[in-house]
Amino acid sequence: MVYHEFAHKLDMLDGAADGTPPLADRDQLAEWVAVCSREFLRLRRLAEKGHKTFLDAYGAKNEAEFFAVATEAFFDRPHALLGHAPDLYNILSAYYRQDPAGRVNRACPVKE
Ligand SMILES: [Zn+2]
Repeated sequence: MVYHEFAHKLDMLDGAADGTPPLADRDQLAEWVAVCSREFLRLRRLAEKGHKTFLDAYGAKNEAEFFAVATEAFFDRPHALLGHAPDLYNILSAYYRQDPAGRVNRACPVKE
């Protein structure tokens, strides 16, 4: 929930709650839009059909909520997100400059 609200605040830094926070450059923006549009539409398709979704189905409401629920998954369930949607994980990893899936791995070296 904290991550969810945090994502909305970041999103609105550029004045628009549209699921796209201010990004470093045009390349990052182009990749962001491509990946988020695809994953947003995938989530919306599944949610409309009443299927179980990996991301919170609330994210199908609009792009701003999509970014918020994707951010929640990124920090709360990083391994699962990486497995489910690696492109989405990677753009969030680049944006937040964090690699929570890698960090959890390093914290548990004997888990095998
Ligand atoms: Zn929200």
